[in-house]
Amino acid sequence: MPTIFSQIVDGDIPARVVHEDETTFAFLDANPLAPGHTLVIPKADHGRLNDIPVEEAADLYATIHRLIPAVEAAVDADATTVAFNNGEAAGQEVPHVHCHIVPRFEGDGGGPIHAIAGETPDLADDELDDIADAIGDRV
Ligand code: 5GP
Repeated sequence: MPTIFSQIVDGDIPARVVHEDETTFAFLDANPLAPGHTLVIPKADHGRLNDIPVEEAADLYATIHRLIPAVEAAVDADATTVAFNNGEAAGQEVPHVHCHIVPRFEGDGGGPIHAIAGETPDLADDELDDIADAIGDRV
């Protein structure tokens, strides 16, 4: 069963499409957090960022890079929050990679990305060292 976003790419579900190229696609979010809230996706049906081959990831970022100034200019935004919910536990509801470009305005009452955290951890220096090593060992 293709994801809802694959059905949008295929034209089976209508959307306000703002950009399309060989490997990527962008359209307005149906439930915008702000005017101009745009989703940028790979056309291929990848569930998480972790699943995307590096060439497609580069294409995806290139489209995001083009779309950010276009979105900001279109709605006269002061800034944008650009983010992925990467996995269900992070709040991803549609299992097809998508980047949110959310226009932001001075005094819009929204928060920074840091607002997503619940209780923040109090980590000792040796724990931070271990975590940094564990990540570095896996890159
Ligand atoms: P997530 O929570 O997975 O990061 O975000 C999914 C986003 O997709 C939501 O912001 C939601 O409003 C949007 N969305 C879900 N279904 C549709 C749809 O059929 N059309 C459009 N344009 N956006 C959708």
